[in-house]
Amino acid sequence: MTKIIGLTGGIGSGKTTIAKYFNSLGLPVYIADDEARKIMQTPKVIGAIKETFGETLFEGTILKRDKLAEIVFKAPGKLKELNAIVHPAVKQHFKEWLMEHKKFPIIIYEAAILFESGNYKDFDLIITVTAPLESRIQRVIERDKITREQVLERINSQWTDEQRVSKSDYVIENIDVEMAKRKTDEILKILKIKQNEC
Ligand code: ATP
Repeated sequence: MTKIIGLTGGIGSGKTTIAKYFNSLGLPVYIADDEARKIMQTPKVIGAIKETFGETLFEGTILKRDKLAEIVFKAPGKLKELNAIVHPAVKQHFKEWLMEHKKFPIIIYEAAILFESGNYKDFDLIITVTAPLESRIQRVIERDKITREQVLERINSQWTDEQRVSKSDYVIENIDVEMAKRKTDEILKILKIKQNEC
C-alpha cells in the first residue's frame, strides 16, 4: 500500500525546494499549488470563478492571478470561496494521479495549506518545513517581486509555524538548504525502514 506523505510549510519556507529534492531521490511528488494553477485554467473552474468573482478578473479566458490574489489574501471569506471551487477539483485530480502511482511505496503531496484545508487527515504522516519568518519574507519578496505588506497578508492567512509543527510527525528546518537536504535524507531513511517493517 502506498504511503502518502503530506509535505507542508508556510509561504517561503522552502517546501517546494524540499519536494523537488524528494523527487530527485526518486519519489513521485504531487505539487498541489502547481496542479491547482493548471486546474484553474480548465473551463469548468474558469466558469465557477467568473460566477463568484466576476468577469473583470479575466482577459478573455486568461485569469488575472495577481488581481485574484489581491482580493483573496485581503479577505478570508473570499479565500474560502476560492478554495471551495479549487480544492474539490484538485482532490479529484490527485485521486487519479495517485492511481497512476500506486506501484510506488511512498509518494509526496506538497501543499501550503494542508492543515488549514483539513486535508492533513488524508495522509499517513506530515512533514513540515520551517524557516525564520524574516528569511521567508525576504525569499518571497525576491522570488515574487511583491511588497513586504503583500507577503505579510499571505503569511497572516496561513497557520503559524508553531501550529504546523505541533501537528507534524517530522520537521525540516530550512535555513541552510544543504542542511535541510541532509535532514530530508534522514527522514527518508526512517520512512523506508518503517515501510519495510510493515
Ligand atoms: P510558496 O509557499 O510561496 O510556494 P515554498 O515554501 O514552496 O514557497 P520555495 O519556493 O521552495 O518555498 O522557496 C522560496 C524561495 O526561497 C525560492 O526562490 C527558493 O529558491 C528560495 N530558497 C529556498 N530555500 C532557501 C534557503 N535555504 N536559503 C535561501 N533561499 C532559499
